[in-house]
Parts: sequence; structure tokens; C-alpha cells
Amino acid sequence: MPTYRAFQVTDQRHFELVDRDLVDPAPGQVRLRVLTCGVCHSDVLAVEGQRSDPATPLVPGHEVVGVVDAVGEGVTGWAVGDRAGLGFLGGPCGQCEWCRRGDYVNCTDQPLPGTSVDGGYAEMVYARASGLVRVPAGLDPVTVAPLLCAGITTFNALRVADAPPGSLVAVQGLGGLGHLGVQYAKKCRRSRNSPGAAVT
Ligand SMILES: [Zn+2]
Ligand SMILES: [Zn+2]
Repeated sequence: MPTYRAFQVTDQRHFELVDRDLVDPAPGQVRLRVLTCGVCHSDVLAVEGQRSDPATPLVPGHEVVGVVDAVGEGVTGWAVGDRAGLGFLGGPCGQCEWCRRGDYVNCTDQPLPGTSVDGGYAEMVYARASGLVRVPAGLDPVTVAPLLCAGITTFNALRVADAPPGSLVAVQGLGGLGHLGVQYAKKCRRSRNSPGAAVT
């Protein structure tokens, strides 16, 4: 059986480079060939063993950009060769009470790549199709990867804040998240000279 390489972690900071069997994606899933995976502070949950069963090997990583390598039964809208991104929320179930309300973040049946299921510190990752976002071919995967966790976190903070275009926004801290928050805020402002026009 063909295999792929993955960095798995067990217990506390015990990393191993292992070979995993390359199997077909389950129904509703795709298999991604990983192009790059960002490193997020939340990876510490897996690396430091702060999960329910740290003795079970887990592949960290939830800022994955990859190319669809195989498509499972029942998946629509994705084809082999498509470029896709996978973040911390690995795909809502679409059936639980929270999903029916449109509150996908609180889905009670959602895999968390790199935390509850294997993530992107590997050559391949398996993902629910409902958790994928499209990544245009012209974008650099290394640039895109942080947008899949740090980026969406700061973008949503701006989106739900009472800060319409033109507002003065303060971003506390200029680390992995903050530097993206500043850029989003800048892109969202409007020109004083031409109300309604976005400034880029
Ligand atoms: Zn759900
Ligand atoms: Zn993260």
C-alpha cells in the first residue's frame, strides 16, 4: 500500500516522522496533498499533550493549503486538482441544532484538524468537504496559510465589532494575529474624498 509521511505527536513534545497508509477519503471527505501548513500558537494544545488522550498519536496543524488529490463519495463542488484551504474548524455537520441556526462555529459534530483529527504537518491530510475554502491558484500558499486561522479570527473580530467603514480601530498587539488585523482594518476603511469607495 502506498504511504505518505507525517509528523505526529504523542504525550508532551514527542514528535515522530512516520509513514501513514494512503487510503481513499471517506464519504464526504477529500484528500489534500499539502502544499504548506502554517504554525499557530494553538498547535501547543496538541504538542503539549493538552487534549483528551495525549497517548494517541495526532498530526498537528490547522492552517493547511493543499491540492485536492482524491474525492470521497457524495462530495460535490470539488475535483482533483482544485486548490483548497483548511483551517481550525474542519467542517460543520449541517444537521445539528447549531448548524440549522447558521451558527457553524458551535457545531456539535465538527472535526478540528490538528486537535481532534490529524492536521497538516504531513504530506497528505483528509478533510470534510464542508470545511474547505477555495484558494485561487495565483496566490502563494505560504501567504495564504495564516489567513485560515489567524486571518479569519481577526477578520471576524472586525466584522462583528460596531466599526463601520471609516471607524478608528485599535488593534492591541502586533503578533501573528494583530498584524493581520491592522491590514484588514486598513483595507476596510473608506476614502474621505470618495465616500463609499474602498481604499486598497
Ligand atoms: Zn453541526
Ligand atoms: Zn490557529
